[in-house]
Amino acid sequence: IVTALFSPLVFHGVQAQNQPKTEMDMKVEELLSKMTLEEKIGQLNQYTARWEMTGPAPTGSSEQELLEEIKSGQVGSMLNVTGAEATLKAQKLAVENTRLGIPLIFGYDVIHGYKTIFPIPLATASSWDPSAAELSAHIAAVEAAASGLHWTFAPMVDISRDARWGRVMEGAGEDPYLGAKMAAAQVRGFQGDDLSADNTIAACAKHFAAYGFAEAGRDYNTVEISEYTLQNMVLPPFKAAVEAGVATLMNSFNVIGGLPSTANPHLLRDILKGEWDFDGFVVSDWNSIGEIKNHGVAPDLKEAARLAIIAGSDMDMEGYSYVPFLKELVDEGLVDEALIDDAARRVLRIKFELGLFDDPYKYSKLDEQGLVLNEEHLQAAREVARKSIVLLKNENNLLPLKKEGQKIAVIGDLADDKDSPIGSWRAQAIAGSAVSLLEGIENAVADQNAVAFERGPVYVSNEPEFTKHLQINHTDPTGIDQAVELAQKMDVVVLALGENCFQSGEGRSQTDIGLKGYQQQLLEAVYEVNKNVVVVLMNGRPLVIDWMAEKVPAIVEAWHLGSEAGNAIADVLFGDYNPAGKLTVSFPRSVGQCPIYYNHFSTARADDTGTVFWSHYTDESNDPLFPFGYGLSYTTFEYSNLKLSASEISADQTLKVRVEVKNTGTVDGEEVVQLYVHDLYGSIARPVKELKGFEKIFLKAGESKTVEFELTADDLAFFGADRSWKAEPGDFNLWVGTNSQMGLKGAFKLK
Ligand code: BGC
Repeated sequence: IVTALFSPLVFHGVQAQNQPKTEMDMKVEELLSKMTLEEKIGQLNQYTARWEMTGPAPTGSSEQELLEEIKSGQVGSMLNVTGAEATLKAQKLAVENTRLGIPLIFGYDVIHGYKTIFPIPLATASSWDPSAAELSAHIAAVEAAASGLHWTFAPMVDISRDARWGRVMEGAGEDPYLGAKMAAAQVRGFQGDDLSADNTIAACAKHFAAYGFAEAGRDYNTVEISEYTLQNMVLPPFKAAVEAGVATLMNSFNVIGGLPSTANPHLLRDILKGEWDFDGFVVSDWNSIGEIKNHGVAPDLKEAARLAIIAGSDMDMEGYSYVPFLKELVDEGLVDEALIDDAARRVLRIKFELGLFDDPYKYSKLDEQGLVLNEEHLQAAREVARKSIVLLKNENNLLPLKKEGQKIAVIGDLADDKDSPIGSWRAQAIAGSAVSLLEGIENAVADQNAVAFERGPVYVSNEPEFTKHLQINHTDPTGIDQAVELAQKMDVVVLALGENCFQSGEGRSQTDIGLKGYQQQLLEAVYEVNKNVVVVLMNGRPLVIDWMAEKVPAIVEAWHLGSEAGNAIADVLFGDYNPAGKLTVSFPRSVGQCPIYYNHFSTARADDTGTVFWSHYTDESNDPLFPFGYGLSYTTFEYSNLKLSASEISADQTLKVRVEVKNTGTVDGEEVVQLYVHDLYGSIARPVKELKGFEKIFLKAGESKTVEFELTADDLAFFGADRSWKAEPGDFNLWVGTNSQMGLKGAFKLK
């Protein structure tokens, strides 16, 4: 592994000049041949907007200097310039003033919506419905394009196993198979079939790589993982994004084995641009080239720039390193000019693909007002939001609630919060514009008088903001008594608990992932007087909710669901939509279990001899509170008749796995049927279970369906001890079922 990471530089993935394959390649080569070295370097430079565009930027040149830099061809891309007017203005500077008139490419963090906000990505992944992720990305692209943007820094496809990490909310969870499906779906959604179309933007798979494996879940922290974990767990979603045609990738901030990803030729050249033949470009993360210096791997920015360009980082985001130093490095013979050509070629190709050379102002001509936040988009946001909800518990059929004849107490600061559902990556959403849970419930019931609200203690005592830490209220319990009083009088309590959206997200790692502030006290006090409690959780990560899970009869995991959150939750609470979401992250019983994930090695297996000498905690079980793949419905499903087409297959054969699923309840519903395998022995340890297929089916009450999966040797392949991908012959177990812990079991052999 160490050899691989530090191997002498082989310039894999540097595209040879003068061998254009397509008409577009020819255009790129023609333009490149006219460019000076400085102009090529300019294409590799990305700055954030300054004062006039969105507000003061903390670093870098002044607005005046920036405008001059654009005019002199030193800027290839900008981020955080938004709105048709601002993008048009900046674009004119580049197109009308520079020698070659090369348009800028405008990037922005359009993570889960632009103005119409969809659920956070972790929530959307819980739908196990790639088409929902695709739709959410597509609508975000339509709106962002109408605002003059060409490029989003999404999807984040980082696998994460540690709920302490703040950015768990931004990915698809802990599983590489599901992560790959969601990554590809989002790329399709943003980019469509044609990047030059008016309703598509370039996507960016990030953060390459292993950013989600930060030690102890602390954002930006050191990553220490083996090449096997990197290959088998971390890289598959990136590869899927590349196969789906993703235009760009973003570096990660972290080091792996001491080497910053931004300076890692093994990742960028050997794997991405070599093995995977990726022909888009790689953008650094915000000043991640500068961070090479901070990591202590370069003495100064010049050396950092040298390491980054050699490794294969094509564009410098706010690092101020390529423009000042690359020319010098080439002149001094420390960087081969072919590397600059290769990087510039990649950037130019994406600009051509976006159609920017045909019409650099095209997006600025769209009907910005008509295309954003319209009825159709809001409707889609509600659809995706309700698909993202996971029913964690529902004893005695407390849910669904009744729209008439039931007195409902709505309690909790988050119930009335119109901002948190928007999430921490909110692009151009209007603050406080989401439908709150309280509003959603009021919209749904027949008689407004049957609903009453009590806030309980104020949860967050300062104005939520992206750049600030939140002050959670730990000093003023006022409101608990009023909440208890209300709860006593009503038939049922809907209690909103969880996180303000700025408690999760970038830079929001936490060591305590339980209920903060006075939430636990409020919960216990309310439960004391009324046992009919439905907790609605709003959060961006798994929370430690062991007390709640034991006592409270109903728990609805509603994440941060976007613009239509309250309506979507009400759809579920009142049974207008039968919930079908499943967790894509394991919920720990206590924070001490983190990182916790279902696809671990068998090392952790219990030994039944009664001794203490096995991998466990003496004060906690190894099991999660809620496992990966878990989620309930208002109906029940029965699995039967698991049949395998053979007990043995050879490497070129396909195993068919069939199962019958029956809706045994009284209402229609959807079920996510999941297929897991266990490769019993391998050249390296193999996970006790790995997801290898899933299908979401709809069954009317009483209806049955046969679901069929196909497995081939390719599906069973892994990166093994000989450092190649292949399936190793041997015995496998498989399960088909409703979550990662419950399923019908079968077995087969691979010859
Ligand atoms: C984040 C990226 C983001 C970039 C630009 C960085 O701090 O890690 O995910 O795209 O900023 O806003």
